[in-house]
Amino acid sequence: RGSLACVGLGMMLGAHLGPRARGHIELADIVFVAASDALVELWVQQMRPDARSLQPFYAEGKSRRQTYREMVEAMLVEVRAGRSVCGAFYGHPGVFATVPHDAIAKARAEGFDASMDAAVSAEDCLYADLGIDPGRVGCQHYEASQFLFYRRRVDPSAHLVLWQIGIVGDRSCRRFATTEAHRRLLIERLLEDYPAGHGLIVYEAATLPIASPRMERITLERLADVKLHMHSTLVVPPAMTMVPDEAMLARLAQLETQLA
Ligand code: SAM
Repeated sequence: RGSLACVGLGMMLGAHLGPRARGHIELADIVFVAASDALVELWVQQMRPDARSLQPFYAEGKSRRQTYREMVEAMLVEVRAGRSVCGAFYGHPGVFATVPHDAIAKARAEGFDASMDAAVSAEDCLYADLGIDPGRVGCQHYEASQFLFYRRRVDPSAHLVLWQIGIVGDRSCRRFATTEAHRRLLIERLLEDYPAGHGLIVYEAATLPIASPRMERITLERLADVKLHMHSTLVVPPAMTMVPDEAMLARLAQLETQLA
């Protein structure tokens, strides 16, 4: 009977792969792999020389939506043929990742067993490398283009993390990079909530143990000048302290005296 397990490789080669995920990779009938780094893919191919890369589905000018549909279908074909299939994705398979979620939903809808294993994402590495605890003042996460396409309510007393900043503003879903002009529109949007001189961090987690993370500090007004990649994440630290809710605090104080 066919089944699907989507697992995460974590961000750093050899550092984050959990035993359950490794078990799925070693034991599945068929393994598909989607890594951001060619060396990480080679590492998976050492464990499973027959692992099939999902990279060839990407193509210049082809819509990512189409690419994702084809990746899901490639995995589902094997599940339907009665095989145990493992999809191994870099990072966490369920964080800013369409294919594993869609593949699992489709497999379940067709009556097959499907599961996802949690793993170390770029977000987890970001907290460690930048010394940010999301519980201290809170942390909002948005996909950078979605952040531009919709009116979101930014809380400048919390951290703001923008994913896929390298392709911010891409409405076509076909680009592997967007332009300075796109980023200027993002600057304009962020200026509604932050001062021009506000410090931001371009973050790129290290994917090899010998490498260091990129943690480049820039100001908001310089965001259009900096080099960004597909694997860059933008971190906007808080610009103000949290504003106490005096009315709620008064009601809580009242409640406490009633209970005392
Ligand atoms: N599933 C992945 C995870 O768990 O981190 C995220 C995949 S999402 C399609 C791609 C985005 O993740 C990038 O645009 C970037 O925002 C972030 N990302 C991927 N690799 C990264 C890295 N090495 N450092 C920082 N952010 C990264």
